[in-house]
Amino acid sequence: MSFLSRQEKLRRILEAEGAAAFLTVDPVHRYYLSGFRGSEGTLLLLPEETVLLVDGRYTVQAKEQAPFCRVEEYQRPLYGDLLRKELAGAGIQEVAVESQRLTHGFFRRLGEMLPEVRLEPREGLVETLRRTKDEEELALLREAFQLADEGFHHILSFIRPGVSEREVALELEFFLRQKGAEGPSFPFIVASGARGALPHGMASHKLLEEGDLVTLDFGCTVGGYHSDITRTVAVKKVAEQQRQVYETVRAAGEKALALLEAGALGKALDEAVRSFLEGAGYGDFFRHSLGHGVGLEVHEAPSLSAPSPDILEDGMVVTVEPGVYIEGWGGVRIEDAVIVKPGGYELLTHSPKELLIVG
Ligand code: ZN
Ligand code: ZN
Repeated sequence: MSFLSRQEKLRRILEAEGAAAFLTVDPVHRYYLSGFRGSEGTLLLLPEETVLLVDGRYTVQAKEQAPFCRVEEYQRPLYGDLLRKELAGAGIQEVAVESQRLTHGFFRRLGEMLPEVRLEPREGLVETLRRTKDEEELALLREAFQLADEGFHHILSFIRPGVSEREVALELEFFLRQKGAEGPSFPFIVASGARGALPHGMASHKLLEEGDLVTLDFGCTVGGYHSDITRTVAVKKVAEQQRQVYETVRAAGEKALALLEAGALGKALDEAVRSFLEGAGYGDFFRHSLGHGVGLEVHEAPSLSAPSPDILEDGMVVTVEPGVYIEGWGGVRIEDAVIVKPGGYELLTHSPKELLIVG
């Protein structure tokens, strides 16, 4: 159902922009508009119907997964012929293409294959639709975040002095997949001790030590939708400064969440956190934006950052992830994700936020 309404919405955007048809080979957008999850194929949105052009590997799968598309199979050398035939059959002389999601090589090839057709490079057509999530998308996101919460709960009993960051990451990924996740959202960040100062410190061979803070940033995909959560825990014991930084970061996140609702400006939330951390003396140690949209891609619109023009809307899904990173000392990040609602939000991350001492 939602695939059909997404196609209809895109048609209305195209009409408003004066474009007759739309072509994409981007896997994320092909799936978003059709339900087809194969690794190759061309989605052609025509005024009266949507056509999926696939090769013989995907004909059966496309027919199963994309009920609101006409599926046409091509043999590789005849791809251009089929494309020409479909466009000519619908009387199309101009096709919108996605300049940010098409390689230059394929764009040139399209031009050679379709000498009669004008290719109109556009930006953000489907991305605009994807900013707010429909009920089907929200259900998949809730599932992905639920699994991430379970993963955090599980990994607490695995973290102890002597295990490596990599072992923690592997255990977490194995657990999530075993629980039904399709795969990890991204290579997990496990950054312990001084490595915690690296906001994107990939899990290394470093062994966890007593007294380390460990930042875990991870997530998984369900139905193509990503979860993304960060928690920082202490191994065995915690020093006074560690606790102080932790509580400051936690309070910074609460500041942002208190302001978060439909109508709030992404940059205002970022600014609120930045000025809070400045007031606490950590202004120089928060060096990335506050948050981002999450969905079919782990980083997508809208943005919660200083230069962002984005206004939060009902149904957007965004992260709030303040952090403090001190070179040579370590770092703390706490990342939540929410569904934006009128007057507030629905929290997607339910893992505890008090400083946990584990091991
Ligand atoms: Zn994250
Ligand atoms: Zn994130």
